[in-house]
Amino acid sequence: MENSKSFFWTQGILIALVALVGTFSLGLMMLVKPNASDAQSQRSINEGTISAKVGTQQRIEGLKATMLTSWQQQAQAKGLAYPLPASVLGATIESAKLTQGEKVIALTFDDGPWPESTAKVLDILKKNDIKATFFVLGQNVKNYPDLLKRVVAEGHTVGNHTWHHWYHFMNPQTAAYEIDHTTDIIFQTTGVKTNMFRPPGGIMRNGVAAYAKNSKYAIIIWSSDSMDYSRPSVPRLINNIFREAKPGGIVLMHDGGGNRSQTVEALPTIIANFRKEGYSFVTVPELLEMQDKDQKLITNKKQ
Ligand SMILES: [Zn+2]
Repeated sequence: MENSKSFFWTQGILIALVALVGTFSLGLMMLVKPNASDAQSQRSINEGTISAKVGTQQRIEGLKATMLTSWQQQAQAKGLAYPLPASVLGATIESAKLTQGEKVIALTFDDGPWPESTAKVLDILKKNDIKATFFVLGQNVKNYPDLLKRVVAEGHTVGNHTWHHWYHFMNPQTAAYEIDHTTDIIFQTTGVKTNMFRPPGGIMRNGVAAYAKNSKYAIIIWSSDSMDYSRPSVPRLINNIFREAKPGGIVLMHDGGGNRSQTVEALPTIIANFRKEGYSFVTVPELLEMQDKDQKLITNKKQ
């Protein structure tokens, strides 16, 4: 009896101990485990949020890149984007240096778009299947947006020729307005983002060309001046061009800024004469691209 009593007593203690340990460990589990799992789930939520954020960011960046690429491709297909070789950005170009005997010339028209004459120049270029380069004034783009849209729609390239065509000295703020505002309106009107600039009058020292240079525009001057702004007779205008014409050259004419009837009248003969001499016509970006390839060819040969 004594033995069985003590057996039950010992067993009772054991049960109590097990129960106590059980309760204690359960309590410990309740105390620790929920916190641990909370912390764990909190961390995984945080990680989830971060990774979701990163994922969204990446998706947005990816989308932007795709949009940009397809926009650029579309723009290029439509002739809206003409990337210039890095070698000409911030450089001043009067003509292209071509060593492989390519007989090409770039026709350029300034101060437009302009009622009457721009459309007539475009008609002549279209008839002859020629692409040219137009250096436009911001104020004229504002006044005649449809004309510039036609210039771009017909595959010609567009450069910046300032807003007002001022010759006087300009501080950096004024120069910035003249150039940036014009580039903006060209873009808003046509989707063309140009990085070609031609200073009015070819003036390089009144602040405006310096701003363009700093902003990495290619400064496009000319090698052959028609002097059509002084309204010479048609034969004289033609002679002015051919006196200075050379392969890789850039021809200066005007479709805007005044009465351009002589230019319009002379243009078919100018085109015919160049063709007779074996020239083909390129845009300024095409000309610069040819020069860039030519220079790379020379470098490769030297190596
Ligand atoms: Zn001009």
